[in-house]
Amino acid sequence: MNSQNGQNGKSNPYALAMQNFEAAADLLELNADIRNMIRAPERALSVTVPVRMDDGHIQCFEGYRVQHNTARGPAKGGIRFHPNVTLDEVKALATWMTWKCAVVDIPFGGGKGGVTCNPKFLSMAEIERLTRRYTTAILPIIGPGQDIPAPDVYTNPQIMAWIMDTYSMTRGYLIPGVVTGKPITLGGSLGRNEATGRGVFHAIESACQHLRLPVKGARVVVDGFGNAGSVAAHLLDSAQADVIAVSDSRGAVYNPEGLHIPKLMLHKEKTGTVCNFPGGECIAPVELLKLECDILIPAALENTVHGGNAPHVRAKVIAEAANGPLTPEADAVLREKNTFIIPDILCNAGGVTVSYFEWVQNEQHLRWDLNEVNTRLEDVMKRSFNEVLEIQLAFKSSMRTAANVLAIRRVVEATRLRGHYP
Ligand code: GLU
Repeated sequence: MNSQNGQNGKSNPYALAMQNFEAAADLLELNADIRNMIRAPERALSVTVPVRMDDGHIQCFEGYRVQHNTARGPAKGGIRFHPNVTLDEVKALATWMTWKCAVVDIPFGGGKGGVTCNPKFLSMAEIERLTRRYTTAILPIIGPGQDIPAPDVYTNPQIMAWIMDTYSMTRGYLIPGVVTGKPITLGGSLGRNEATGRGVFHAIESACQHLRLPVKGARVVVDGFGNAGSVAAHLLDSAQADVIAVSDSRGAVYNPEGLHIPKLMLHKEKTGTVCNFPGGECIAPVELLKLECDILIPAALENTVHGGNAPHVRAKVIAEAANGPLTPEADAVLREKNTFIIPDILCNAGGVTVSYFEWVQNEQHLRWDLNEVNTRLEDVMKRSFNEVLEIQLAFKSSMRTAANVLAIRRVVEATRLRGHYP
């Protein structure tokens, strides 16, 4: 999440989501009725969240929960605590969740939530009160069969535990299936924490196989060394790729020989940042995207790669670990350069896939071992990649449009089969 984010400042993520939708809908030749039915969110809830701060005063935060589409199952998607959260951003992210769940064929629709706040300036106690009050505000529309939140930017398993507890207290008994990404002790799934990064790794493996690009020795750059970026970097490092540069919100480090990822992870854990890592040279985050590499992983926020910096990107493959990291201008520039882009709704779908496994385990009161979770995740990622690739080859489109086509086709089919109510 470095300083390049949204630098062109103009890209509205919801406009981007709609633009991607129309491109795929055109290819599918969808008529106006079905387009209108599945384009806009089914439900968008705005809430005010009054929180008693540690100094005694009450601060009001804005919060949202959007359910984009539930034709294929309950709404599913994370909750983001970030200063830039807006209703339009949450609507875009909810829309992407619908396509994401459909592209990997898990029986969920799409949802997303967010609170406009900066958790870096809040105490743990304030975050807990904020979470519980926000949960109470969205309580009428969430539930294991209705809408299932999960972690997203700056939310974590502890926050999921508070959501589950708040929901369960109002019902009078423990309901773990209301939320995923919980701590393991409270019904969280093994492998959920690493699932997004692991899924990104499998998507990259599949892309490399298709492009005949060996993972071993591939030079990798990771923009955003957070939960997804660091796990993907670690798995690529274990597969003998050379991760040459990584960044986080505070800066970037570079080592042309490859960074020692386990040591870098420890350094980040201790100091809170990748900056000043002794095994590399500090570079400006803007320089990171310009590095010549085989694989670039934008793993931070939306709009990291835009019209201004895309011409300088020199990667063969872009693996979108973040949601919406490329603006439409960047996408066009990079396609022109023949960059192979693994789109977000496919690339980062590992997280929600293991969320689905967690929910299945909760609903059945079962526990799967780590091997079972990881094997199933790998199957889902590889199968989905190949399904998208097949469409890409058939339509001679981009991988992004192909992923949207596959996803939208599944949602349209479900909508048509259900028929129109009333
Ligand atoms: N926030 C993650 C995403 O954007 C995970 C959502 C989930 O697990 O429900 O895919």
